Amino acid sequence: MAQEIDITRYTPSVAEVDGAQRPVLIPERRWYDALLSTEADAAIDRWNEKVFQDLNSPTASADCWTWTAALSADGYGEFSLGGQKARAHHILWSLEHGSPPQFVFGPKGWEQVHVGHLCHDQDETCEGGPQCRHRQCVNPDHLALQSHSANIRAGHAGEHHRRKTECPSGHAYVEHGFVYTDPRGTTRRYCRACQSGQRAAEFVGSRKLLGVAA
Ligand SMILES: [Zn+2]
Ligand SMILES: [Zn+2]
Ligand SMILES: [Zn+2]
Repeated sequence: MAQEIDITRYTPSVAEVDGAQRPVLIPERRWYDALLSTEADAAIDRWNEKVFQDLNSPTASADCWTWTAALSADGYGEFSLGGQKARAHHILWSLEHGSPPQFVFGPKGWEQVHVGHLCHDQDETCEGGPQCRHRQCVNPDHLALQSHSANIRAGHAGEHHRRKTECPSGHAYVEHGFVYTDPRGTTRRYCRACQSGQRAAEFVGSRKLLGVAA
């Protein structure tokens, strides 16, 4: 999972990922700048119209706040800002913390960072995938940065039903990667977006290098 990264394109920093302070790389600012611009007030009104919060619930501030507007193909709320579409929960995280880091340094080297949903992680009945209702949640208290590997561990049962067409992060292989058969005839999958199948690809490469019969 270690990745080659052109560090000059990022701002090194430190952030809480998987519950611990770790080195991170923050990409060049994008739509976060729009939040600080004159467009911001109008954007906040537009935002509030799209969020359902059950104020009659005795646990209103702890409940999931549901996105009622457009969803991405993989089930996350979408919001347009500064001429760009972004995931609603990413924008929300940014309002509080600034642009989310893209990579975190951990035991496996640099890994992709996700803005994860803690409400999903705590609900073991949720099977995950595009139908996961937690992906629509925009309660800021339910969001936290997670390394890619932690994000996968939190995936829950039922993941295997969609693994054929999507990587564990919900990227469609048809768009972000490919599915291939290794020399042993095993079907393997590779996602460019998060390189989750990189090990499998390396495995095939090393067999070739070592001259191991397929
Ligand atoms: Zn939630
Ligand atoms: Zn869920
Ligand atoms: Zn992926």
